[in-house]
Amino acid sequence: MSKLVIVGTVAFDAIETPFGKTDKILGGAATYIGLSAANFNVDQAAVSVVGGDFPQEYLDLLTDRNVNIEGIEIVKDGKTFFWSGKYHNDMNSRDTLATELNVLEHFNPVVPENYRDAEIVMLGNLHPLVQQGVLDQMTKKPKLAILDTMNFWMDIALDDLISVIKNVDVITINDEEARQLTGEYSLVVAARKIHEMGPKYVVIKKGEHGALLFHDDYMFYAPALPLEEVFDPTGAGDTFAGGFAGYLASTGDISFENMKNAVIYGSTLASFCVEKFGTERMVTLKKEEVNTRLLEFKKLTQFDIELT
Ligand code: AMP
Repeated sequence: MSKLVIVGTVAFDAIETPFGKTDKILGGAATYIGLSAANFNVDQAAVSVVGGDFPQEYLDLLTDRNVNIEGIEIVKDGKTFFWSGKYHNDMNSRDTLATELNVLEHFNPVVPENYRDAEIVMLGNLHPLVQQGVLDQMTKKPKLAILDTMNFWMDIALDDLISVIKNVDVITINDEEARQLTGEYSLVVAARKIHEMGPKYVVIKKGEHGALLFHDDYMFYAPALPLEEVFDPTGAGDTFAGGFAGYLASTGDISFENMKNAVIYGSTLASFCVEKFGTERMVTLKKEEVNTRLLEFKKLTQFDIELT
């Protein structure tokens, strides 16, 4: 079974959407990535840090979904990373109300010994130096290193981010962040500029408008499944990344053709994530539900046209 190393936040989130509000609930990039990658046959480990205030039941939940938590450090007298966000009525944009780094401030990641030869490394949203720290601990060059990031790190650690971007094969980033990183409005031009920064593959996530995959002059587009109800988009980007990485790890095939399927899996899993608050939907998700939705996806995007 292929090994997958995930790094990212394991967090408390407080979320407000037009449909309701939550107190501190389980969140974090590594959490969503792990819960999503859990839908594939992979041996995965999360590398992160939490405080003494983090409930054991949340850690158990990750273990139950086959996420190895050996690499999640617990700082007994520290507080867990906290993020709070409020969505606008269109649910496509949000304001960050609070980002409290807490135990993240002095975090030195340690990749468990047994995972240092992992085939795939998914560098989820976290300080770029921590992402680089994980890459540096790999004893064998991973078959594929994937990086996700967000505007917060571009604002406070741009040089470090640019350095780690040079060392990865794939970047997954949302449209606004791609524009911020490159100063280009056109996503095609932005993707080209990101290619020039290092990654051979660029995935630009466009929320309810799907995702684009770029590789040299090739381009692939996967829509997001139009849903009747979107409850809470938090974690959709990470869930996409987890599905993308999990699928590639489980198939062991990192060709562009297979990456198209990985994008479809990522979009499919993200479509579940948004149906309930926080991680609620992802923890109950069944294989049959995923398969049914994949077929819906196929129907949505397939057509047979005769040229006239
Ligand atoms: P997404 O909706 O996919 O962009 O991810 C939302 C998740 O990212 C939430 O669960 C947050 O805990 C986490 N998050 C928010 N801000 C940051 C940050 N600056 N660094 C790492 N993770 C973050």
